[in-house]
Amino acid sequence: MIVLVVNCGSSSLKYQLVNMENEEVMAKGLVEKITLPDAQLTHKWNGQKKEIVQPIPDHKVAVKLVLDILTDKDCGVIKSMDAIDAVGHRVVHGGEEFASSTLITAEVMKALERCSAMAPLHNPPNIIGIKACEAIMPGVPQVAVFDTSFHQTMPPKAYMYGLPYELYKEDGIRRYGFHGTSHRYVADRIAKVMGVPKKDLRIINCHLGNGSSLAAVKGGVCIDTTMGFTPLAGMLMGTRCGDIDPAIVLNVMDHHNLSTKEMDMLMNKKSGVLGISGVSSDFRDLGEAAANGNDRAQLALDMFHYQVRKLIGALAAAMGGVDVITFTAGVGENGIEDRAAICEGLEYLGAVLDKERNNVRGKDALISTDDSTCKLYVIPTNEEIMIARDTKEIASK
Ligand code: AMP
Repeated sequence: MIVLVVNCGSSSLKYQLVNMENEEVMAKGLVEKITLPDAQLTHKWNGQKKEIVQPIPDHKVAVKLVLDILTDKDCGVIKSMDAIDAVGHRVVHGGEEFASSTLITAEVMKALERCSAMAPLHNPPNIIGIKACEAIMPGVPQVAVFDTSFHQTMPPKAYMYGLPYELYKEDGIRRYGFHGTSHRYVADRIAKVMGVPKKDLRIINCHLGNGSSLAAVKGGVCIDTTMGFTPLAGMLMGTRCGDIDPAIVLNVMDHHNLSTKEMDMLMNKKSGVLGISGVSSDFRDLGEAAANGNDRAQLALDMFHYQVRKLIGALAAAMGGVDVITFTAGVGENGIEDRAAICEGLEYLGAVLDKERNNVRGKDALISTDDSTCKLYVIPTNEEIMIARDTKEIASK
């Protein structure tokens, strides 16, 4: 079985074509900076790489470009679309409608549209990706794998908000948590890398990218996480504000005469490290600006590092300690200085960073000292393989 995995993020599209007989990745790639004039497609196959830079206005154009390159006579790996047996889609928000991965039907599409209100940055590009694939490959089974499902093991004391109980019963207002596929992958992977059964580990996984969240995984199941009802909650992110005093929302809307849509835009797209720095949501740009003396870029970085460190403390408390802290996603895997800044002051947990070992990017690596009782690791995430496995299982039924 050949599975195409499609992961549409807010400004990116990752794809992998996986041969599920042996889980071999036949081709993979990344479309970055969608909506910008210098958007880039990087396609990798058989040890070769091709880059295309061109304006990519939206996700639909990005999906079309990916399907074209997969069947291209020079750099494609399949003759035609017919070779693809199933498509697995990352879908961010499943609300309470989806507790596990599911085959996409017309009914499911309606439910996904309903969930879009809760994830306005993410579900719409996911849905566009599904529709584009359905249009080009009619009849091929499509599976949705939700970021929310891994967090369904959280106990009520972790997922309930201090609001009237009826809002939970009637409107499903509760913490859902996101990046679940990534947290699930890293929890499985770190257990293998350390050679310790998952049931014996208390893991804090720091998924730090454009969107960021931490998850506490105890005995193999998620017991708490930093994102909430939507992916807007938790720490400040690239363009999202994260947790703020809820009264600020009312105050700002009042004083600036903002509609709910405008306020939503402000918190989702104009806040986070972009809003603080006024420079960029990209951590590479922020690092450069801070090094050149931009105080607001430095402040944005300081806030980001401080919030991760503070949340690690909260999740360690939730689990009664922590055995391993893992760093994953764009910043977690590549941000050497970011990891160093975050880990400064974690010694009280027994976590001591080894500066030499920390000089690593994008591969499984121990980055704590030998006498560190709480281990620190870089574990590159692989949401695609988790999605491919779920897709194979569901499409084979
Ligand atoms: P993701 O959402 O996981 O794709 O992560 C995107 C983020 O990772 C962006 O803010 C990038 O700036 C950041 N990133 C990628 N490479 C690096 C790097 N070498 N150093 C610091 N941050 C990086």
